[in-house]
Amino acid sequence: MAYSNYEISPKSYKSFTGFIFMHIACFAAIWTGVTTEAVILGIALYVIRVFGITGGFHRLFAHRTYKTSRVFQFIIAFMGQMSMQRGVIWWAAKHREHHRDSDTPVDAHSPVQHGFWFSHCGWVFNEEAAKADYDRVPDLTAYPELVWLDKNKYGPGILTGLICWLIAGWPGLVVGFFWSTVAVYHATFCINSLAHVFGRARYLTGDESKNSFLLGIIALGEGWHNNHHYYMASARNGFMWWEIDITYYILKVLSWFGIVWDLKQPPERILKGDRQLPAHLLDRLGMLVAQRFPADEIIARVKTRMGEAQLPEAKLPELVKAELPSLDEINARASKFLARTDELKEVVARAHNHLAETVSARLNGQERIAEAA
Ligand SMILES: [Zn+2]
Ligand SMILES: [Zn+2]
Repeated sequence: MAYSNYEISPKSYKSFTGFIFMHIACFAAIWTGVTTEAVILGIALYVIRVFGITGGFHRLFAHRTYKTSRVFQFIIAFMGQMSMQRGVIWWAAKHREHHRDSDTPVDAHSPVQHGFWFSHCGWVFNEEAAKADYDRVPDLTAYPELVWLDKNKYGPGILTGLICWLIAGWPGLVVGFFWSTVAVYHATFCINSLAHVFGRARYLTGDESKNSFLLGIIALGEGWHNNHHYYMASARNGFMWWEIDITYYILKVLSWFGIVWDLKQPPERILKGDRQLPAHLLDRLGMLVAQRFPADEIIARVKTRMGEAQLPEAKLPELVKAELPSLDEINARASKFLARTDELKEVVARAHNHLAETVSARLNGQERIAEAA
């Protein structure tokens, strides 16, 4: 199902208004001024909250890439919710969906399918796209304290804002809280949107995830998104020594104190890119590549040539074949946004087949309709 409704759903107006308010409130700094104390508070809150999301929501709750105590599990969930991105269970459930259906039409986060705005944050305010299936995350709903926290989704954030005001006054609220909350929003959202568009793909995954150094820094290691899509069970997203992954460094330090343990690592064969992509993911990639060649244009060209030369129906398959892009052309396009591995040839062949089937089916379908009329 594609999310065709780009309007803000009535149920989401309250959270959408809050989201817009948070941005506008940043301008209040014109009156409150910017103090050193407030800036330090803002930077500290940025790091704490992005870590709450990346180390907590993402690597612990969505992917279970390490173990920790029930107390620290609650603390890190609370840290994530300080960023006002709804509840921990909702977040993790939606994220698991992102991996399951990555870059398909049902993936609310996909810029490839739904454009930049929707994948960045528009989906959160679309009732259908933002719906999370709590039945699919029994490992998280098993903890009553997490369920309670998830229900009080904005509680930790509001409390954080209040504490900022108490510590550093109005500049503390505006610069320390509002500025950093907006920065945390967009750093996180960029992983949904930009990390599937900009950067380089080292591995062939079933989607268009990329590795980006810049996003790696901004989002404390989450920018190594192609690595992550290739092997999501790892607590470390930066696979190479130079792939800076601050979230992992923090987790590593916490492990020295016994606060977290069993940090999962990517196996050697994964680092080498030795894992074969299953057939259904090769198919999915074939479709993503085929989308780069609009069937409408091919159909139009076939129809023009049929009409011009007054060719008989029997010539149709031959013409379709002639108007389809060649394997080399498809390969050239695919290499621009997917990893150039040996398996890419397989993807290109599937994209070619997919295009041929789509174009033929639509041409035959239209003819049948024309005959019936
Ligand atoms: Zn993930
Ligand atoms: Zn992704």
